[in-house]
Amino acid sequence: MERFEEKVNRDGPTPEYRPELGACWLWTAATADGYGRFGRDGKSNQAHVVSHELYVGPVPDGYEVDHLCRVTLCVRPTHLEAVTGAENLRRQAEAQWTNCKYGHLFTPENTLRQHGRRRCRTCKNAAQLKYDRARRSKEIAE
Ligand SMILES: [Zn+2]
Ligand SMILES: [Zn+2]
Repeated sequence: MERFEEKVNRDGPTPEYRPELGACWLWTAATADGYGRFGRDGKSNQAHVVSHELYVGPVPDGYEVDHLCRVTLCVRPTHLEAVTGAENLRRQAEAQWTNCKYGHLFTPENTLRQHGRRRCRTCKNAAQLKYDRARRSKEIAE
């Protein structure tokens, strides 16, 4: 558990999708497909599933661990719920229409159209900011 907690940032953002849940705990170590990975007993597991096992209890057979906050890197136990695979798929399909993969809502103001696809304005602005900062610090260094 200690090794797990070292890799968690408990000061994550509050999910816009479900602000009442409180701040997300973000996974800061290895990831794959947008999910945190945690190596245990020689196997690589999804970090949010490990979190559920550590803090809540074992995940029943045939169940998957869903993110109530819709933030796939979040491992906060109170943001997780074990649901059947079918229920998880249903929620994912529904969520795709309501928020980006970081949990920002696709409100009309927050939705950009790019090549016929929706893009989250909050994420785009954050990416732009990061890019600008990187460029500026490079210019200073030169
Ligand atoms: Zn969360
Ligand atoms: Zn976003």
